[in-house]
Amino acid sequence: MSSRPEVLFPLFGALTKLDGVGTKTAEHFAGLHVEKPRDLLFTLPGSGIDRARRETIRDAVLPGVVTVEVEIGMHVPPRQKGRPYHVHVRDTATEFRLVFFHARGDYLQRQLPTGQRRVVSGKVEMFDSMAQMVHPDHMVPVAKAGEIPKFEPVYPLTHGVTQKVMYRAARSALEMVPDVAEWIDASQLEKSGWPDFRSALEAAHSPQSLKDMATTAPARERLAYDELFAHQLTLSLARASVRAKPGRASVATGKLQSKVLQVLPYKPTGAQERAIAEIVADMGNTSRMNRLLQGDVGSGKTLVAFMALLTAVEAGGQGVLMAPTEILARQHLESLQPLAEDAGIVLEILTGRDKGADRQAKLNALMSGDIQVLVGTHAVFQADVAFNDLRLAVVDEQHRFGVSQRMELGAKGQAVDVLVMTATPIPRSLALAQYGDMDVSVLDEKPPGRKPVTTVTVSTNRMDEVVEKLRGAIVDGRQAYWVCPLVEESEVSDKTAAEDRFKRLRAALGEGVVGLVHGQMPPAEKDAAMAKFVSGEVSVLVATTVIEVGVNVPNATIMVIERAEGFGLAQLHQLRGRVGRGEGASTCVLMFQEPLSATAKRRLSILRETEDGFRISEEDLQIRGAGDVIGTAQSGLPRFRIADLERQSALVAVAQSDARALLMQDPELTSTRGEAARVLLWLMEQDRAIRLISVG
Ligand code: ADP
Ligand code: MG
Repeated sequence: MSSRPEVLFPLFGALTKLDGVGTKTAEHFAGLHVEKPRDLLFTLPGSGIDRARRETIRDAVLPGVVTVEVEIGMHVPPRQKGRPYHVHVRDTATEFRLVFFHARGDYLQRQLPTGQRRVVSGKVEMFDSMAQMVHPDHMVPVAKAGEIPKFEPVYPLTHGVTQKVMYRAARSALEMVPDVAEWIDASQLEKSGWPDFRSALEAAHSPQSLKDMATTAPARERLAYDELFAHQLTLSLARASVRAKPGRASVATGKLQSKVLQVLPYKPTGAQERAIAEIVADMGNTSRMNRLLQGDVGSGKTLVAFMALLTAVEAGGQGVLMAPTEILARQHLESLQPLAEDAGIVLEILTGRDKGADRQAKLNALMSGDIQVLVGTHAVFQADVAFNDLRLAVVDEQHRFGVSQRMELGAKGQAVDVLVMTATPIPRSLALAQYGDMDVSVLDEKPPGRKPVTTVTVSTNRMDEVVEKLRGAIVDGRQAYWVCPLVEESEVSDKTAAEDRFKRLRAALGEGVVGLVHGQMPPAEKDAAMAKFVSGEVSVLVATTVIEVGVNVPNATIMVIERAEGFGLAQLHQLRGRVGRGEGASTCVLMFQEPLSATAKRRLSILRETEDGFRISEEDLQIRGAGDVIGTAQSGLPRFRIADLERQSALVAVAQSDARALLMQDPELTSTRGEAARVLLWLMEQDRAIRLISVG
C-alpha cells in the first residue's frame, strides 16, 4: 500500500465538503492549521460549557452559563436608538431578563412570544442588581430542548470560524471516518481501556463533562497515543532503514586505545567505559551505527568520541569529528592532538578557513589515508572532500539537528557509522520523540573531584558591586567570563551590546585585562581573543553566547551572565558549565533586570538549587513547553495536535517500545496489524515513513 487507501480519501478531500463550510470559511480554517477534514478531526475542543438544565437561575453561581426553562413575559423595545431590547422572563423561582443589542423586534416577537415557554441557555450576570442573559446562546421551544447539548464542546477558533461552524463541521467530518482495523497491540488496548479509533474520535468531540477533556480521558489518551505511535513508527523505520543498509564491521583491535589509556592522567569513569564499550560493539557489527551520545557538560564526551575515532583507525579506516563552530573545532584539535600523539596517529583540522595549496595538501592527505582523523566544521562535508576510507562520523553538539539532516549525513560516506554527541540534557520524553531513530549511550556520571559551582542571582542595579568583586578576583589571579544579554533578532545589536560592555569593563578594570569575542568578529581576531584568554593574558572575556558550548578554560572560575532571565534554562546551564572545571571554587552570577516575573524567578531559582542538567531540563520543559526547549522548527520534532509531551512522557515511552516491537515482528508491515499501522501512518501524515517502507 504505497498510495493512500481509498477509505481515507474524503478525509483528505476539500473542506468545503463539510456541512456549513463554503469557500470563504474553508480559507479561514487555515488560521487553525486546518486544511482538510482530517485536520479538523485532530483539532479537539479545548474546553466545554456545562448546559445541564436547572430549575432556576437563583442559586447559580454568577456570572455563569445557565440553561433554564422560562415563561416569556413582556417585551420592552429600546426607547432610544442604540439602547438594548429587553425581554422579561420567569423561571420556577425568579424573574430575569434577556437582553439584545441591535435587535429586530419582529424577529424577537416571533422567537419569543409572550406567554409561551422556552428553554434558554447563556451567560447570566448581574446588571443594576438585576439578573440578565445577554444574547442567549440557545433559545428553543421546550419540545426541542434536546437540541441543546448538555455539555457543549468549545473549540479553538480563528477569524471567520465561529463555534457553531466548528461544531457542525466537526460533526460532519466525523461522519467521514471509516471503520479501520486496529493498529494498537491488543494487550495494550485492554490494559488501558481505550475505545477503538472511530469511537475515540467521536467521544473526544462529544465530551460529556470536563473530565472527558483531561489528557487521561480514555478517548483523548488513545488519540494522543495514535499520534505518538505513528511518529515512533516513522523514527523506528528510519532507524531500521539505516541499520539495514549494508554497513561494515569496524572491528577494534584495542591497540591504539590502550596506548592512550595507558598515558591518560585519569581513569575513565564507569559511564565512559560503558559508552565506549557500546560504541565499539556497535561499530564492530555489520549494521550501520546511528547512535546518540548524551552527556551533561563536563561528563567527558571527548574521550569517548576519541576512542570511537580510534576504533575506526584500528579497523584500518578514518574518522571525522565535526563541530558546529570554528572555535570548537580548534578546541577539539587542541585537546585531541596530544591524545593522537599518544596513539601515534595523524590528526588534522579542516575548516572554511583552509584555502588554496594548504587545503589541497590536506585533501590529498585525506584521499591517500595519510590523515587518519579529521577534525573540522561543516567544511569537512564539502563536495570535494574525499576520504580514503571513512568509517565513522562524529557530530558534536548538534542538538539542533533534525532526523532528516542526520539521515543525509549518513549518506556522505559509504556505510559510515554515525555518532552524534549532545551536551543538552533533554528529558526522556523529548529524547524519545526527537532521537527515537537512534540508539543512545548516556554519560550519567561525572568525573570525580568536580567542585560545585556556587550560583547567585543579583539585580542589574547592583552591577557596580559585581564589577568590584570581579576586580578583587582578578587580583587573586582568577579569570571570568562575562556573557552579554541575548538581543532578539539582530546579531548586530548582539555585537553592540557586547562592545559596550567591553568598553565599560575595560574602563573599570583596566586596559589589557579585558578581552572581547562575538560572532561578528573576523575569525582570526576571534581566535586571537580566545587564545589570550586561554593563556591567561586576559582575565575577563566579554562574550556573546558563542562560548555557549564546549569551550574549556580550567582557570576560569567566574561566570557572569547579564539579563539571565532572557536565556533558556538549558542554555544557562551550558554557560555555567564553562566554569567549575579546574581546581578553584567557582561562582556563577546570574544578573537579572527588575522587575522579575514569578516564572522567571522560579526558573532562575532552579539553577541555584541544582547542577543536575537532567533535572534542569525537566523543569524547563514543565515551565516552557516542548517546542521551546528545543526550537521545534529545527529540531525535527513534529507539532503534535493532541499528544502532550510534557504530561504524557510515559505514553511516549510505551509508543516507542510498541513501535519497535511491531517492526521487529513485521518489518515490512504486511501482517494484519501491520496493514492497519500503514493506515495510521497515512492518517497521521507520516509520508516519510511510507516512503521508507515502499523503498525498503
Ligand atoms: P564534555 O562532555 O563537556 O565534552 P569534556 O570531554 O570536554 O566534557 O571533558 C571535560 C574535562 O574533563 C576535560 O578537561 C577532560 O580532560 C576531563 N575528563 C574527562 N574524563 C575524565 C575522567 N574520567 N576523569 C577525570 N577527568 C576527566
Ligand atoms: Mg565537549
